Amino acid sequence: MHKHHRALGLATAPTGTRSGADIAKTRPVQPVTLLRPHAARRAARFFLDRFPGRSLYAVKANPSPDLLKILWDEGVTHYDVASIGEVRLVRETLPEAMLCFMHPVKAEEAIAEAYFDHGVKTFSLDTLEELDKIVRATATGGEAATDLNLLVRLQVSSKHAKYSLASKFGADASELKALLFGARQASDALGICFHVGSQAMSPAAFADAMERVRDAIVEASVTVDIIDVGGGFPSTYPGMEPPPLEAYFQLIHAAFEALPISYSAELWCEPGRALCAEYASLLVRVEKRRGDELYINDGAYGALFDAAHVGWRFPVALVREQESVTKCMDFSFYGPTCDDLDHMAGPFELPADTKAGDYVEIGMLGAYGCAMRTTFNGFGVDSVEIVDDEPMATLYGAASAPTRSNVVTL
Ligand SMILES: *Cc1c(COP(=O)(O)O)cnc(C)c1O
Repeated sequence: MHKHHRALGLATAPTGTRSGADIAKTRPVQPVTLLRPHAARRAARFFLDRFPGRSLYAVKANPSPDLLKILWDEGVTHYDVASIGEVRLVRETLPEAMLCFMHPVKAEEAIAEAYFDHGVKTFSLDTLEELDKIVRATATGGEAATDLNLLVRLQVSSKHAKYSLASKFGADASELKALLFGARQASDALGICFHVGSQAMSPAAFADAMERVRDAIVEASVTVDIIDVGGGFPSTYPGMEPPPLEAYFQLIHAAFEALPISYSAELWCEPGRALCAEYASLLVRVEKRRGDELYINDGAYGALFDAAHVGWRFPVALVREQESVTKCMDFSFYGPTCDDLDHMAGPFELPADTKAGDYVEIGMLGAYGCAMRTTFNGFGVDSVEIVDDEPMATLYGAASAPTRSNVVTL
């Protein structure tokens, strides 16, 4: 991190014709979400060009229709949806998209609507009960469907991830063989899927999980057509700089090639965070300063849920008229609601003279940030602006996009 900051004047700003600083100049009273379509496009292209298989977008990370259209235009054809609400939304936004209903526990009515009304053929499951449900819900006049792709979700370790997804879902070892067997009989294509947990900081997470896949295939001796390695691909945050994504892709490719599966088997992944973290940031105003605490106008009930509840750190930059010449120091943030829980510990590193009336850009909020806003306590009405300067950090094309310093001078 930069202990001394450089001022990044508009003249030296990397690309933009319109930047977060331009928006700050208008002195917005409400928080403003800054959208960077070019960053989402770049992430999509990266996965489409370099992941050695098919990349599905995990819609829960950010279901914004604008983003869905950007990803579709860039070539993302398959979408991982987890609720009937997401099924309807993506179907409405992208009529030709392939939807994969990857929540292992679904309402029977949701399965039926997805299959009959929205053309969804791909479902995940982790119990024999769910298999029965899917078979029942997709049958026509007593005839079982013959066009299902069924992916059995394995339980794998989340030890390399910042966010565990290990305890809630995943087939029980005692049932796994029967489940793979039953799903094979009920499906056109049989798959195995897993999720190593979100923000997996080591590619080894995927190698370990692929070992579980291998054991399951050998044990059940079934033919498997799809291996879906799920999401978990990291993005970059202060104190969490992951290895390059290529290292993940290489390990996954090598492990996939070594599996006892047919030559025509497909490899899938379901990135959420990695495709959209850089898509959005947030411009907030400091309403009050108390020592090293800044009271800002967005928080835990807005786009900063993870900063409040999981201690997630995000990159920040002071955006103000006058260049700051002070050193940086660590701040924590309070959000605008009357709730003590509306506190983001950070630390967030900003110039020591940051004060009420200043604007701060908080980066990397495109995934699990803007998607989680509420209107609790009358806050949360925000405006949206499209900008084309670089995101505050990037995993993609670092050479052309230097990580920005903590201060942007207007
Ligand atoms: C949340 C989720 C994803 C996306 O995870 P990221 O960590 O954002 O990449 C993918 N697949 C499933 C089944 C999920 O629940």
